[in-house]
Amino acid sequence: MQECIFCKIVRREIPADVVYEDDDILAFKDINPVAPVHILLIPKKHVATFFDIAAEDQPVFGKIQAVAAQVAKEQGLEEKGFRLVANCLEGAGQVVFHIHYHLVGGRELTWPPG
Ligand code: 5GP
Ligand code: ZN
Repeated sequence: MQECIFCKIVRREIPADVVYEDDDILAFKDINPVAPVHILLIPKKHVATFFDIAAEDQPVFGKIQAVAAQVAKEQGLEEKGFRLVANCLEGAGQVVFHIHYHLVGGRELTWPPG
């Protein structure tokens, strides 16, 4: 997975504005934000899509949601709320094939998304 851009960010081979890190998870600001707050949360382990999640990897995906709430709070979104969204495969807009959750907030968010 040498060419995976998010693995490179995990290994600090390319820079990112990291807002949270633990042994399993990294959260950093999206390079092309679509809202005042736009943070990506990723498992440090390379998993390409939801279809590739192994049984042993499942706990980290639960933990990511709790981390998202913590990061959202730190970003001042506790009252207004936020959206946590992940695109799976090209048809849904996935461009980077290392699972990532977009934490988006700080502006009015419409539903349903486009
Ligand atoms: P996707 O379309 O795969 O769900 O989302 C990929 C996201 O990764 C996009 O929002 C894009 O702006 C972001 N992104 C792509 N390359 C980089 C990068 O090198 N650094 C950061 N911080 N974000 C990136
Ligand atoms: Zn990767």
